[in-house]
Amino acid sequence: MEFYRDYSLEELLEIYNTPLLELIYRAATVHRQYHDPAEVQISTLISIKTGGCPEDCAYCPQAARYHTAVEKHDLLTVEEVKEAAIKAKNAGASRLCMGAAWRNVRNNDDFDQVLEMVRVVNELGMEVCCTLGMITEHQAKRLADAGLYAYNHNLDTSVEYYNKIISTRTYDDRLKTLNNVAKAGVHICSGGIIGMGESVEDRLKMLLHLTRLRPHPHSVPINALVPVEGTPLQDQPIVSTWEMVRMIATTRIVLPKSQVRLSAGRLFMSQEAQALCFMAGANSIFAGDKLLTTGNPSFEKDMEMFQSLGLKPQPPFKHGPKPEVKETYKVKIQEKVKWDRPKLNNVNQN
Ligand code: SF4
Repeated sequence: MEFYRDYSLEELLEIYNTPLLELIYRAATVHRQYHDPAEVQISTLISIKTGGCPEDCAYCPQAARYHTAVEKHDLLTVEEVKEAAIKAKNAGASRLCMGAAWRNVRNNDDFDQVLEMVRVVNELGMEVCCTLGMITEHQAKRLADAGLYAYNHNLDTSVEYYNKIISTRTYDDRLKTLNNVAKAGVHICSGGIIGMGESVEDRLKMLLHLTRLRPHPHSVPINALVPVEGTPLQDQPIVSTWEMVRMIATTRIVLPKSQVRLSAGRLFMSQEAQALCFMAGANSIFAGDKLLTTGNPSFEKDMEMFQSLGLKPQPPFKHGPKPEVKETYKVKIQEKVKWDRPKLNNVNQN
């Protein structure tokens, strides 16, 4: 199969709607062409700054405007992050992903502190990923120089459904951030969330955008919505295993080299359901009992599952060299950071 292909929505629909067992077989075949099916990459996601976010993502308990049980927490110290990284590494994680509840990165002391966190975790021999909101090319470059391996910025859903979920930023700015990350030479991690009331077409349109990125995203998280009390999506039904398997298999087929991450929602899935996702081409998980602010299976439970399924954790830097830390990450420039606000405000009407 060609590695880069321009798919149409119809082609994606045809793949997605293939009879399930045939779809899993096709995805598993592609998976074996590009990956070791016994290896699963383990990432640990920690929240380095929690809550109080000015954005209005309808799924997120960290948005300041929703009344949820999430407690606000200022930026962690570099020492606290180092401790969490060592713990994750000792438990088998090859990547630490640090999330901050920001709309966008600002050129201030907090960002300097995040750059130090990146350097320290890189020096522990782990892949470092950040998810900090929108960033400029210069900010992405400083993160790269500090030793950042990947930057996460999910497209979430289709352009059409996006403004039902988020009214405070534009899809175009989302794509601009991905472009800034790529220009800085940092791997892109970008995927979406299913179960927010969107159609199958919306899910596949999001995937279409990802297939058009060059290079393809290095990792693609597929999240099942975890409905959290107090958010506009609190009453959404839990996504079925079949929908997750179909989405993962389709992603594997059209993004053959990417790490496909079985992300949020694993707490609702049996080990058998997760095994089907691995068969369908998922080769990455988030481990640790918390995903930013929502629950996740414990490390121990995951290791039990790995043992039963004969899986092993993927070593770090299997798909790209360890970034070198360059002192230039300390160099600040004066830049005016401005991101758009969408004109229409028709969010959260579903
Ligand atoms: S998803 Fe991120 S940007 Fe959106 S409200 Fe939550 S923390 Fe803020």
